[in-house]
Amino acid sequence: MWDERDLLMIPGPTPVSSKVLREMSKPIMSHRSKDFSEILKECVEMMKEIFRTKGDVFIVTGSGTACMDAAISNTVSEGDKVLVPVYGKFSQRFVDIAKSYGADVIEVKLEWGKALRPDLIRDMLRENPDVEVVAVVHNETSTGIRNPIREIGKVIREESEALYVLDVISSLGGDDIRVDDFGIDLAIAGSQKCLATPPGLAMISVSERAWERIEEKGNRRRTYYLDLKRYKGSLEKEVPETPYTPSVPLFYALREALDYIVNVEGLENSIKRHEIFSDAVRSAVREMGLELFPERGYESRTVTAVKIPEGIEDKELRGRMRSKYRVIIAGGQDHLSGKIFRIGHMGSITEREVLITISALEMTLKDLGFDIELGKGIGKAEEIISTGMDQIAK
Ligand SMILES: *Cc1c(COP(=O)(O)O)cnc(C)c1O
Repeated sequence: MWDERDLLMIPGPTPVSSKVLREMSKPIMSHRSKDFSEILKECVEMMKEIFRTKGDVFIVTGSGTACMDAAISNTVSEGDKVLVPVYGKFSQRFVDIAKSYGADVIEVKLEWGKALRPDLIRDMLRENPDVEVVAVVHNETSTGIRNPIREIGKVIREESEALYVLDVISSLGGDDIRVDDFGIDLAIAGSQKCLATPPGLAMISVSERAWERIEEKGNRRRTYYLDLKRYKGSLEKEVPETPYTPSVPLFYALREALDYIVNVEGLENSIKRHEIFSDAVRSAVREMGLELFPERGYESRTVTAVKIPEGIEDKELRGRMRSKYRVIIAGGQDHLSGKIFRIGHMGSITEREVLITISALEMTLKDLGFDIELGKGIGKAEEIISTGMDQIAK
């Protein structure tokens, strides 16, 4: 049974501050009013800062997948070649979306838990110079992998005319992502991960190059609700708006959450905080004698995937952690179910939540008979957090 006191440490949705939640209880306003337009404009401007782009940004009512769909459906028509490296559940989703629009998908399967190498993209583009879109997931939430997106962007630009579509749903706000500098044509985010807003909004950035492609595809594109030209037309009106009724309360919440990131904590501090927390979680887990799932050197800064040790059952581990210590962590997806667990450390959480989670994990492992000395993991995390947090500008 869900309990209000449970601590949610999964890789999205993430806990939402009561200040952000309270925004949602404000009276509903007309989405065609000047007042709503102001909120929309503020949200778009703050999203541009977080995406670090001078290009366009749109906010769609729908989950993150809505904008993955928008990125593909607006730029791809039947028979177009789309290159998708697959190394987890979310990169697989790009394959499924592209196929659903009749694209000729070049699927490059990597072992789950391995990082994507820019050289692989280079080789694939040389073999297939007519690829029109390369779709990549930055932070593969299902495996805890973080890919070198700057280097990948460089290769795409050097080797081809392809658009660079990048899913940053579980990293934007908690990792160093620079849409313009990295040459990302369409970047996709979601409200419920590092942006610490309830689920239900998706964001997409659109570059000049992407607009040229969208124009070129004209009416060969197959989308209605997600037609980015409609979003652009509406946002460029004298009183900017969205084409269809947006989730008004979610926009109230988003404005409050983004204001915190941009104007209170600061984006740089938020990124640094996520880096420190991920370092603390990884180091603590290793100290406990557990093994990380992702390839070393490419670990996510927002979610840590850990192999479940011999003799421990996933159900017991996560079940006890929840029932006895009130901390909820995530299991593995698809073939990793029962083999790994995942700790989400993203969004508006503080060192308090990170330390509680590590402590609960240690106690749970001890309860289940795992050979562990209590306090080793938590001690390591304390060390990293106490020195790390001093480096964050106040
Ligand atoms: C959560 C997530 C998604 C899917 O988002 P939904 O909001 O569930 O549609 C896509 N990609 C990544 C990397 C994610 O972490």
